[in-house]
Amino acid sequence: MIDSHCHLDLNAFAQDIDSVLADSRKAGVTRFLIPGTTVPGWQRQHTLASANPDIDIAYGLHPYFLSPSMDDNKAQLRALESQLASSHASTVAVGEMGLDGVVDIPMDTQQQVLEYQLHLAQEAALPVILHHRKTHHLLHKALKDTGFNRGGVIHAFSGNAQIARQYTDQGFLLGIGGTVTYPRGSKTREAIKSTGLEHLILETDAPDMPMSGRQGQRNSPAYLRDVVIILARLFEKDAQSIIARTTDTYYSQFQRRSQE
Ligand SMILES: [Zn+2]
Repeated sequence: MIDSHCHLDLNAFAQDIDSVLADSRKAGVTRFLIPGTTVPGWQRQHTLASANPDIDIAYGLHPYFLSPSMDDNKAQLRALESQLASSHASTVAVGEMGLDGVVDIPMDTQQQVLEYQLHLAQEAALPVILHHRKTHHLLHKALKDTGFNRGGVIHAFSGNAQIARQYTDQGFLLGIGGTVTYPRGSKTREAIKSTGLEHLILETDAPDMPMSGRQGQRNSPAYLRDVVIILARLFEKDAQSIIARTTDTYYSQFQRRSQE
């Protein structure tokens, strides 16, 4: 079972990261992908990946943490460019990047930073981890405008079958996490069922997006099986085949390079 999106570099895990990793492995997690959020976070990700061969990482600038000043953001994009140029084999993607319709950063700033990161990923021949929140139409536009064609994952996918299909047609996987464990996630469950298991990978978004029944608790990769159980029911398969299929799908998109 692979947690394709967990923010284990964040302060929420600073005190007990080793036991979180141990508990998660015991619960059946075989690989973790830690997406990037900010420049200072990249060092922590690199340290974790160097110490743990089952941790993959991605470097990126998350839309939540952008500066309202485009000059500051440009400096961060330059830092990202050199980070990617010197990155280790554990770097399997660029992100987390995207567009957030709720956060207080102007949308045109978010769009410029996203488009630049798509361009860097294209140059580096890496897939991306995309964040969305009420922004599916703008994301499609950014993908089209930049001609980005390296694929990746739509993190925390929620939406209808038509939106899901547009992404999979563009070569993206759908990241499936806590949303589908709630009764109100029925639209997303129907959408992913019609899209097909072969386009899905598992994620928790830990420490955020707690699973149904675990509200108010810190989320952890150790709870990833909650998502597997929902998918097993939805696709009428056993848990083991959901795990096997989503694991293969992860590796079809996120691969370490053999440069080490
Ligand atoms: Zn995230």
